[in-house]
Amino acid sequence: MAEDCLFCKIVNRQIPSEFLYEDENFVVIKDINPHAPVHLLILPKHHIRSINDMEKQDSELVGNMFLVAKQMAKEQGVNESGYKVGFNVEKGGGQVIFHLHLHLLGGWEK
Ligand code: 5GP
Ligand code: ZN
Repeated sequence: MAEDCLFCKIVNRQIPSEFLYEDENFVVIKDINPHAPVHLLILPKHHIRSINDMEKQDSELVGNMFLVAKQMAKEQGVNESGYKVGFNVEKGGGQVIFHLHLHLLGGWEK
């Protein structure tokens, strides 16, 4: 847990937030300012600042983020129509919350 990290506070339930999914390692929340009809954030419970701080031992955790995204896409009914997944990395990459999170966006009109 990092001090003053919004997403650490969300995963530790210090700030109430609806979890669409939770397991030992992850929670999934809806983005507060969605950029698509479906816009979810997959958050590891463990604090990692960004992909720049990813170490070899984080490979399984990061890989599993994509499996959670795949499952959520199916639950949200966008797996067949298609979706985007991505990380913003540091300020120049559009990252504003410095706790690793995978964006899942989809549900646009065909
Ligand atoms: P970033 O730009 O860092 O990759 O993405 C951070 C995302 O978190 C943004 O899309 C923003 O809308 C979302 N966000 C910021 N604060 C909150 C919050 O308190 N709750 C939720 N659910 N999303 C948030
Ligand atoms: Zn954090």
